[in-house]
Amino acid sequence: MPRASPGIMCVELAPDQLERRRRAEAFPFILGLGRSRRRRVSWYAVGVRYDPTLLYALDPDTFERLLAVARRELPRVIVLNERLRDDQMAALADAAGGARGVYLSHWEQWIQLFPEFIQQEIPEIGGPLPPDWLSRIAPVFNRKSLGDAPWAVNPLFRIVAGPRCSYRTLVADNPFYRELALPKTMSCSFCYTSSNVNPVKDEVAFAVRQIEAACRQLPETTDERQFEVLGSRIWPRLEEFLMALSRAGVRGVELSFMPRIDQILGARESILRCLPTLAAADLAMRLYGAGIENFSPDENMRFNKGISAEQVHEAAAFIISTRSSWPRQFRFTDGMMSMILFTPWTRLEDLRINVENIERCSLICPFFALGQRLQIFPEPVHPIRLLAERDGLIGASRGNSFYNSGCIVDASQEEIPWRFAHPEVGVLCQLGLAISRFKQSDGRATDPVSRKIGDLLMILPTPLVLFRRAIDEIERRPRTPSLQTLLTALSRAAS
Ligand code: SF4
Repeated sequence: MPRASPGIMCVELAPDQLERRRRAEAFPFILGLGRSRRRRVSWYAVGVRYDPTLLYALDPDTFERLLAVARRELPRVIVLNERLRDDQMAALADAAGGARGVYLSHWEQWIQLFPEFIQQEIPEIGGPLPPDWLSRIAPVFNRKSLGDAPWAVNPLFRIVAGPRCSYRTLVADNPFYRELALPKTMSCSFCYTSSNVNPVKDEVAFAVRQIEAACRQLPETTDERQFEVLGSRIWPRLEEFLMALSRAGVRGVELSFMPRIDQILGARESILRCLPTLAAADLAMRLYGAGIENFSPDENMRFNKGISAEQVHEAAAFIISTRSSWPRQFRFTDGMMSMILFTPWTRLEDLRINVENIERCSLICPFFALGQRLQIFPEPVHPIRLLAERDGLIGASRGNSFYNSGCIVDASQEEIPWRFAHPEVGVLCQLGLAISRFKQSDGRATDPVSRKIGDLLMILPTPLVLFRRAIDEIERRPRTPSLQTLLTALSRAAS
């Protein structure tokens, strides 16, 4: 069948863990650009269960629905936000009559990389972008869901208006890093969100334009729409942003933000002033992911996080009281504070400090926190990797199976193994991960380790009590050879 104009079909694999929805941020702009150039463009969403390996295989019914769309539309290019298993990708391309499959590999930096991506990967869309493309392209949110997975039908739209974070400190101020050959300033030493380049002149206006367009164009719904807003220059202009959305007629929307703990503290007055505006416009704000990383001052300094334990507890108190006064407009889900509990340098005393502070903060999920360890990746090279290399802690295998703390955002990423400077901590890390996995399985895992953990959690009041006893046991017997041995000792002592 002859093709009227080159067709571009965007396929969004939408995971059920909403915060894992990535790389669909550019789709409204691909559609908008295509339409302005009279190309056939479409956007289909397919609900999937989040797979930490980020390599998806669709079930037969869902895949058949996608094939049927490809046969009908015969696009020349199929753009995907996540990796499909090779055989399904090949079958999809075949169904479309030999379409080219293209993966979006970037997300938070999509604005910087979009012109190059279009030129190199989708030339069929009609040549390079004009320099003023950011203001010229009208975003198009004409998105259809294949199937009825509720998280795909009414998704969380991520609106990127600039780099997530502009946090920087002087390397000279951090005793762990000042001897390393680093540039003058650094962000958190492990963070992969470091570029501060932003071609967007007015982040507030750019984000409002996208949210307003989405609300206007998407089919009417009685469900609240959800948007996650990224852009470090928006948070300091929070009141202006919310007023602009209200003036633009945006209603029935939840807006998520991920500020730092110190930014939450700094914005307390501003948040309190915004809440009546939110109520009047039927809007809500949600905070999530506020990173603590680690309560131990040494570990925190190695992360260059710049957040103290007292700041965390102060922010938590503000969140809890505001949430209780404005439950509809101000939201925070318990457990949504992130931590990195284990690092190559972790000592037993660091773990004790963390257990004590996690117990103090009801917003932290202990099951989640106990299962978090540092992940280091080859590119870009981050300061914490240089520190681990200098200390001879990179390269030895931990013997662990695949693990994704949430830092693996692309199927091609492979982490660099590291080892513990204090080897006795290794078995506690295994215990923390096993407790976390036990919880993720809803207590249904039946392997021997999970069964023992389940039995212990029936006797002991909380996972933190179990973990504290494990620290005591390892302090007494630092050469405990395995997790099984540790669990046997803990079971004996508890019964
Ligand atoms: S971890 Fe968070 S606060 Fe630190 S640099 Fe990254 S985004 Fe910014």
